[in-house]
Amino acid sequence: MEIKLAKTAGFCFGVERAMQQVYEQIAKGNKIYTYGPIIHNEEVVKDLKSRGVEVIHSDEELSEITEGTVIIRSHGVPKEICEKIERQGLTCLDATCPFVKKIHRIVSEESAKGRDIVIIGNDKHPEVEGIKGWCETPAVVVESEEEAEKYTTNNPKGVCIVSQTTFNYNKFKDLVEIFLKKGYSISTVNTICNATEERQTEAREIAKAADVMIVIGDRHSSNTGKLYEICLQECKNTHFIQTLDDLNLELPKSIPCVGITAGASTPKNIIEEVQNYVRVNF
Ligand code: SF4
Repeated sequence: MEIKLAKTAGFCFGVERAMQQVYEQIAKGNKIYTYGPIIHNEEVVKDLKSRGVEVIHSDEELSEITEGTVIIRSHGVPKEICEKIERQGLTCLDATCPFVKKIHRIVSEESAKGRDIVIIGNDKHPEVEGIKGWCETPAVVVESEEEAEKYTTNNPKGVCIVSQTTFNYNKFKDLVEIFLKKGYSISTVNTICNATEERQTEAREIAKAADVMIVIGDRHSSNTGKLYEICLQECKNTHFIQTLDDLNLELPKSIPCVGITAGASTPKNIIEEVQNYVRVNF
């Protein structure tokens, strides 16, 4: 039997980098907090907790902490959160993904020049919350065609459009088209990160060829949910599992091909465990 493991399964560059920073701090023996769970994975958050890493869930919780290092996760946070951490005498370790940091820089500079900022993305997503918090003037978040159509401005300095890193590229292009027709002076920066799209494209290809497909990730991780949907469209025998314990495969011994992929917040050891199990048992 062939096992096709997706090359893009698991942590993307930004998440890997943030996790490394957490483990470096643990090794130094510092008291560590993360501002929000470092990734959407219960297993990882539990493991970090057992090593003394605590999660700060809100601004109020942050107000009560007076000692230690606060790590900012890859999604990033509004500027005021970094400032608050430092005002309280804590060390702020910014593990924001460099691709997100670039958006912070763009919106900060462009809004300081007096331009309107439009963020194409989901207003409720923490990354978008963070981006808004680096604009000098209130930003407008646009997710749908209706919202784009409704947008008007009388700002003579024009508009700067950026995107949430995980936004769909085709949808982004369509929305930008709507803005361009309005006749404003518009500068657009495509800030979409390809990691998500590459993972989805590879998952689809593997699922097409596989007789059984296994998608590994946290139940609450939206990018893993999306991967599962994509794989299910191509392979009816697709299983969504969080860890090896959830895998109840009853397969005939002669399955030709099992595909495996995993969401952006799934650690390597869980992926390897599943891969080894499949290799040994089928
Ligand atoms: Fe960075 Fe892209 Fe990963 Fe987001 S998906 S953390 S932008 S590498």
